[in-house]
Amino acid sequence: MNWGLIGASTIAAEHMIGAFRATGGVVTHVVSGNAAHAAAYAAAHGIAAHGTDLAAMLADPSIGAVYISSTNEKHRAQALAAIAAGKHVICEKPLAMSVPDAVAMVKAAEAAGVVFATNHHLRNAGSHQAIRALVAGGRIGRVLSMRVFHAVHLPPHLQGWRISDPTAGGGVIPDITVHDADTVRFHLGEDPVEVVAMAAASGMGDGVEDSVMSVWAMPSGVQVFAHESFTHAFAGSGIELHGTEGSIFARGVMTQRPLGEITLVTAEGAEPVPFDTHNLYVHGVQRFLEAVAGKGRPAADGWDGVRSLTVALAVREAAETGTRQRVAYGD
Ligand code: NDP
Repeated sequence: MNWGLIGASTIAAEHMIGAFRATGGVVTHVVSGNAAHAAAYAAAHGIAAHGTDLAAMLADPSIGAVYISSTNEKHRAQALAAIAAGKHVICEKPLAMSVPDAVAMVKAAEAAGVVFATNHHLRNAGSHQAIRALVAGGRIGRVLSMRVFHAVHLPPHLQGWRISDPTAGGGVIPDITVHDADTVRFHLGEDPVEVVAMAAASGMGDGVEDSVMSVWAMPSGVQVFAHESFTHAFAGSGIELHGTEGSIFARGVMTQRPLGEITLVTAEGAEPVPFDTHNLYVHGVQRFLEAVAGKGRPAADGWDGVRSLTVALAVREAAETGTRQRVAYGD
């Protein structure tokens, strides 16, 4: 696969260019809003073509797929242009600034017959796949509640627009709550129906929230508590699932790398749970390439991205209005 990058971003540099190459792909072209940045980025990462002209890149028939990792307000127009040019798309989360925009992107991809994936990496982790297998296999019985603790410390090189620019999609809710929504959906196999929330600026956010706590009601009656933050240097991340026959404690698993520890506790005692330590992003790209080849679907497809965004925006609305929100998926 020949890949075009839309957005000369940190995530592409740190994870995705490597994942494209590890799966046999070639990154042939990078487009940025800034010509000098595009040139420097192409030189640093060994990419042959670079520039600011998205249409020129999309006109190149040798490029089969694009990866969109610009700031969030740009995703919609860039995705629609790529889809119109017949390219398969991996788009970063949050898919867009609003649910109707995200729906428009996914519907356009369906109409054009191209594969569209959302880059929710956590469901590609061996740790999360092992947890999901325990839950689906009934090892903790009927699930009663789930706790997601994803309060981290945003490193300085990622602060920028995330902590100060609502027009670019800044704030911890579009950044991290959206991932947690996908992870909860992945483990429980159902979508939140109602949420309550409170958000705060706790030292980093300047015009956007940097911390949020929310409680979600699931159709089955499972209660979910989620905590996301940019300001917690020592909290560590993880999830817990509690059921009638056992509990799962997973620490250090809300990460971009295949790390963490999982313990299953039942009436028989506590046992460590082994899991695969494959690269999350490589796994996601492999699933995408299989979907392009007509085998299966991406790990997280466009509708998964629409749903995670819908949950995250309901959390933000709940926090802003101080009211309980129904999560309106629009279908
Ligand atoms: P960055 O801030 O690194 O990059 C975003 C954009 O900022 C770039 O695309 C580029 O704009 C511009 N930019 C960055 N550096 C420069 C520079 N030196 N000069 C000029 N412009 C610059 O963002 P991230 O990589 O952190 O995030 C990008 C997207 O990926 C977001 O949608 C985010 O939510 C998502 N993300 C997903 C992760 C995941 O694991 N799934 C993890 C991290 C981020 P231009 O587009 O014009 O090139």
